[in-house]
Amino acid sequence: MSNDAIQTIIPGLWLVATPIGNLQDMTSRSIAVLTAAHVVCCEDTRHSGRLLKHIGAQPQRLIVANEHTEHDATSQVLDALAAGHIVALITDAGTPGISDPGERIARAAITAGYFVSATPGPAAFVMAVIISGFSTTRIAFDGFLPRAGAERRQRLTEITRERRTIVLYEAPHRLAKTIADLITVCDPERRVVLARELTKLHEETWRGTLTQALQHVCDIEPRGEYVIVLEGVSNSSDDVSDDDILEQLRVRKSAGLSNRDAVDEVSSVLDIARKRVYDLQIQQ
Ligand code: SAM
Repeated sequence: MSNDAIQTIIPGLWLVATPIGNLQDMTSRSIAVLTAAHVVCCEDTRHSGRLLKHIGAQPQRLIVANEHTEHDATSQVLDALAAGHIVALITDAGTPGISDPGERIARAAITAGYFVSATPGPAAFVMAVIISGFSTTRIAFDGFLPRAGAERRQRLTEITRERRTIVLYEAPHRLAKTIADLITVCDPERRVVLARELTKLHEETWRGTLTQALQHVCDIEPRGEYVIVLEGVSNSSDDVSDDDILEQLRVRKSAGLSNRDAVDEVSSVLDIARKRVYDLQIQQ
């Protein structure tokens, strides 16, 4: 697809990002696509109707795509695309397809050979991770954890040793339960950021350990929308250099520990194989 085609809003499916709280985050391209669209696909006609009115967009038709209707909406979108229409897909907030409807419709349009593009914009997890202060080099976006059962346990176990920064969405009334569950599988001292009501009047970024986070949410009775950002595990043996190990051994031996006790302690604290610490110790 040429650059010109992208600039001129051609017929096809456009996934349009909308604000996650602050209307000023609506981009000019998102407004242009919604204004040009013949058909707008949305989760809730009342909610999106207000946004469309605000920007002066008057689509010929609205299609409702929510978790119950996405299957049906997909065939309606395909029909509109077959008629040569510009179809814009929006959700109640943020980027379509991110813990929101959009994935199935996008895939169907791609499979059927239609033009598919997006106007990027707000997504709560991106904002939360960049203000977390944790590594942004490698990120694991996990959306909402399964509510219960083996699937939830499996995902929590994966988080235990995850080295990437992990981002989760959670409803306020389930925040304490999820943090408590994270404490059962992770180091309670693991650092976490709770990013609340991003871009809104009561935006707040809380930082601390998992233990402190549980205390915090029990104290405040959480309200509003939250993103949980959890620091990845860093003490993997690959991350620990020989110099780090030697330094840790030196500190312990000068504090009076025997070679054997120093090796045991360093291996345990850095979570690395005892043999590696022992081999370095005897080379000294
Ligand atoms: N599509 C959206 C996006 O791009 O971020 C996510 C929709 S998902 C149904 C809603 C969840 O996203 C909320 O429960 C919350 O975890 C997170 N979220 C959305 N807006 C937020 C905001 N302004 N502040 C914090 N979290 C937000």
